[in-house]
Amino acid sequence: MYPASRAADGPVAVPSSRTDTGPERCTGSTRRAGKTTGVVPRPSPGAHDPEPDAGPPASCVVFVHAHPDDEAIFTGGTMAQLAAAGHRVVLVVATGGELGAATEVGRDAADLADRRRCETAAAAALLGIARVVTLDYRDSGMAGDPANDHPGSFSSAAVDLAAKQVAAVLAEEGAVAAVGYDELGIYGHPDHVQVHRVAHRAAALAGVGTVYDATVDREHLHFVETHLVEEAALTGDLGLVRSRIGVPTVEITTTVDVRRSLAVKRGAMAAHASQIPESTSALLLPEHHFADVYGWEWYVRWGPPGPLDGAETGPRRPAGPVSLP
Ligand SMILES: [Zn+2]
Repeated sequence: MYPASRAADGPVAVPSSRTDTGPERCTGSTRRAGKTTGVVPRPSPGAHDPEPDAGPPASCVVFVHAHPDDEAIFTGGTMAQLAAAGHRVVLVVATGGELGAATEVGRDAADLADRRRCETAAAAALLGIARVVTLDYRDSGMAGDPANDHPGSFSSAAVDLAAKQVAAVLAEEGAVAAVGYDELGIYGHPDHVQVHRVAHRAAALAGVGTVYDATVDREHLHFVETHLVEEAALTGDLGLVRSRIGVPTVEITTTVDVRRSLAVKRGAMAAHASQIPESTSALLLPEHHFADVYGWEWYVRWGPPGPLDGAETGPRRPAGPVSLP
């Protein structure tokens, strides 16, 4: 839990160096379609969903993610269900994902970032995300990668500077909760670890008392088909082991059952086609195996309960008969 002094930090005035993107600026094109500095107005409560599901009063939750596609993989179902319940869901993406898999020979980093920006916009439209803010830091590699020394890399950015950018969004939106990653960045990627630091610092700056660390249930994943995060961590020469992915079950405070949103979540993952093509293991899974792996989203909450602790939380595994000897 946060120390008591944290909430007393209070809101701060911060710079507004951000970019807002909308799906309409990417329609029919994967090219950079320009940036705007405008802020999508925050609608009056309930205005964006006239018939929200029954539940607590609508509020805003800001999700901070490292790369385009992380939002769909780790929190897509949660975002969709919050939006369907009438909450305002805002996505902050720290980097352009320049170091992701290039799908076309000759595509340079800027081209890939452009494409991924548009893929994010498409995913956001599916998930009901009201606003996408890109911080425009540069993608970093794994620990020790020379890319981490690139000017503008997110992992080497000053935490306070990035946190002020996120805090500005939290303040503008009147957010009641921020979402980042667990302290090891789910699987150790330096940009993800930085998200943990930045999200917590931003929440402190903006006086937001509830922070959720998105993670995965390491023990759940042990029993199901391979999750993309395991592939990312365990393939290649990253020096990672399964015991460093996510957190053990006992550390998870909030499990969101997203099985009813799986079609939307899968669609949002597939929208990131440059990184998650239909030939990817995750998208080739039969429906029931996909549900086993991606049907729950896990968080470690800091501070008082928030919107993610609502009625949508559920058991980590399907309820079924228990056989006793
Ligand atoms: Zn990532």
